[in-house]
Amino acid sequence: HNASRIPFVVANWKINKLHADVAEFLDKVNGKVPAENVVETGIAAQDLFLSDMVRATAQSPIHIVAENVHWEDSGAYTGETSPKALKDIGAKYVLIGHFERRKFFNETDSTVNLKVTAALRNGLRPIIDVDEDMSTYAQFMDAEPSVAQVAAALAGVSVDQIRNVTLAYEPTWAIGSGEAASAVQAQKAAHLIRQTLAKLYSPVIAEQVRVLYGGSVTPDNAREIMLQKDIDGVLVGTSALDPEKFLQLVAIA
Ligand code: PGA
Repeated sequence: HNASRIPFVVANWKINKLHADVAEFLDKVNGKVPAENVVETGIAAQDLFLSDMVRATAQSPIHIVAENVHWEDSGAYTGETSPKALKDIGAKYVLIGHFERRKFFNETDSTVNLKVTAALRNGLRPIIDVDEDMSTYAQFMDAEPSVAQVAAALAGVSVDQIRNVTLAYEPTWAIGSGEAASAVQAQKAAHLIRQTLAKLYSPVIAEQVRVLYGGSVTPDNAREIMLQKDIDGVLVGTSALDPEKFLQLVAIA
C-alpha cells in the first residue's frame, strides 16, 4: 500500500442480513471506526436497509454503499434503483460489476459501463469489480485480471471523474470459497490494473486511484495482502458479516 492513498475497507453483505441484524451490527461498530482520513470504511447492503443505515451512521465515518444501481436517473424501470435516489438518501458509494451480478443477472461490460457513468453523473462513487481474464490462461488460479473489463467499465470516464473511482480485483475462484489469492497473486493483479490505468489515463493518475483485493479475505490473511504496494484495501463478504472481524480488518488497514 502506497501512503498517498487512504486505505479502504468495504464490507459486502450481499443479501445476508435482516433489519435487526443490521442495527445490531452498527451498534457494535459505531464509535470504533477511525476517521476517514486514516482508513475509509464502507458497508454495502440491500437497498431497503440503506436509508436506515445512513441514519444509524450519521455520527460515524462509515460510508453506506449500494450493491447495484440502474443506469437511468428515473423513468419506467420497474424493480430497479436509480442512482439519483441512492444519492438522495445519502449513499456514498456503489458496487458495480460484482461477479455475482455478471454471473446471475447478466451484467455485461456494457451495462457495467452505463452504471459507472450513471453513478458518477449523480455524484456516487463507483467501486468497480473486475474478475479474471480466462481467455489467455489454462490455469484457472493463475489467470490475470481482465484488462478488457477495466477498459470497458471506464469508457467515457473523464480524468476528473476517475479520481472518484475505486477498482476491486476479485478472482471468481476466491469469492466465498475460503481460498484467497496469495498476497503475491493479489499484488500482481493490482499492479496490472494500475498499469492499465496508466495506459488509459496517465502514470500519475494510476498512482492516485485505489485498487482493492476481494475474495475470502479474513483477519488472518488481510495483513499480508494489504502490505502489498499496489493494494489499497479489501472488499470483504463473509468475514465482514461479523462486527468483530470487520473491526479487526479496519484495524489492520
Ligand atoms: P467473500 O466475498 O469475502 O465471502 O469471498 C467477497 C465478495 O464477494 O465481495
